[in-house]
Amino acid sequence: MATKRDYYEVLGIDKNATDAEIKSAFRKLAKKYHPDLNKDDPNATEKFKEIQEAYEVLGDASKRSQYDQFGHAGVSGAGNAGFNGFGGGFSGFDGADFDFGDIFDNIFGGGFSSFGGGRSSTQNRKTKGSDLLMHVKLSFEEAVYGCEKDFDIDVVEECDSCHGKGGFDEETCDTCHGSGTITTEQHTILGSFLSKTTCPDCGGRGKTFKRTCTSCRGKGKVTREKTITVTIPSGIDTGDQLRVAGKGNAGSHGGSNGDLYLEFMVSDHEFYKRDGDDIYLELPLTITEAILGCKKEVPTLYGNIDLSVPAGTTSGDKQRIRGKGIDNRAHHSKGNMYIIMKVITPKKLSRAQKKIIEELNRTDLLDKEIDRFNQFTKRNK
Ligand SMILES: [Zn+2]
Ligand SMILES: [Zn+2]
Repeated sequence: MATKRDYYEVLGIDKNATDAEIKSAFRKLAKKYHPDLNKDDPNATEKFKEIQEAYEVLGDASKRSQYDQFGHAGVSGAGNAGFNGFGGGFSGFDGADFDFGDIFDNIFGGGFSSFGGGRSSTQNRKTKGSDLLMHVKLSFEEAVYGCEKDFDIDVVEECDSCHGKGGFDEETCDTCHGSGTITTEQHTILGSFLSKTTCPDCGGRGKTFKRTCTSCRGKGKVTREKTITVTIPSGIDTGDQLRVAGKGNAGSHGGSNGDLYLEFMVSDHEFYKRDGDDIYLELPLTITEAILGCKKEVPTLYGNIDLSVPAGTTSGDKQRIRGKGIDNRAHHSKGNMYIIMKVITPKKLSRAQKKIIEELNRTDLLDKEIDRFNQFTKRNK
C-alpha cells in the first residue's frame, strides 16, 4: 500500500484534469505499455496494470471523488482483487450503495467490529453484488463496425444446494446465545473495559447450522464459469467502457446482481489512422500522378470510392470525405474521412526515365513559391 503511486502521477495529469484529458492520457499510456504491443520494456505489464488501475478510479466520477477525499484507502478495492483481467473480483465502491460502513470494511479488510452492537445487522443486509471488470481487445474492424462476442466469465452466484444460507438445520448459536455478539473484559493499565465483538462462531448471525453446506463450504455462494454473448456497438474506442447490467456477481440476501463492465483496447489498422470519430488515410501518389492529376480508387470504411486528384498536388494536401468516418453513438452521426496525399519520389529510374527527367530539368520549372524563397536567400547573403 505504501508504495502505491498517486493515480494522477501515474497518468501524468493534473489534479484538475478534465474527463477528456484523463481519457486521452490513459489511451496514450495504454498503447505505449500494452504487453502485447510493448515487448521491449520488461516492466510493461506492471506499468500497464498500474495505468489501468489509475484509470479505473480517475475515469469514474464517483470513484474519483472518493479517491480525492480518502486517497488509496477510499478505493482500496481497486487493484487488489480486480483489474487483473478476466473475471477478477472487481469491488470498487458503488456510488449508490456507498456508506461509511463500506469505507471501514475496505480500510480494515472486512471483519473489523469493535463498534459493538448494530454491526451484526449488516450481516443480513440486502447488498448488491460486486461489479466485474473485464479487459477486451478488439480488432480495428470489430470496433468500427460493432460485433457480437462471447465471454467466459467467473460469476459468484448464490449456492443452489443451500439457497445461499451456507448450511442446513439452523439452531441458536451456543457461544453468543443468539445475540450475535460476545462481551469480553479487557484489562489494561487504565482499568478494565467491557468490549463487545462479533461472535466468531456465527459471524454475528446469532444462529449456526447443524450441517454446513458442502457445495459452497458454508459460504452460501459458489463461483461458476458462464458464457455470455454481448453485442458491442459500432464506434468503440480504446478506453471506452460498456456496462452489461446484472451480469456481475450475485447479491446477498435478495440484493440485485452487480454489473459487468467491459473495457476496450482497440488494435491499430495497417492503413487507417483514427482520431476520435475521424479517419485518416495516406494516399501514395507517383510524381506524375501528382503533377498531372489523376483519378484514384480509394478504400473507405464503407467501400471504395473514386477520388479526383487535381493536377499539381503536393504531399500533405488533404481532401475531406464527409460522413465516411466512425459512428458517434452519442450524436447519431458519423465522423469524416480525411485523405492525405503523399507523393512518393522514385528512388530508382531506368535510363530512359532519367533522360526524360533531365530534359524536364532543363526547362524552367520555377514556381512562385520557390522563386520567393530564392530571392530571400539572395537578400540574406
Ligand atoms: Zn451452499
Ligand atoms: Zn454466535
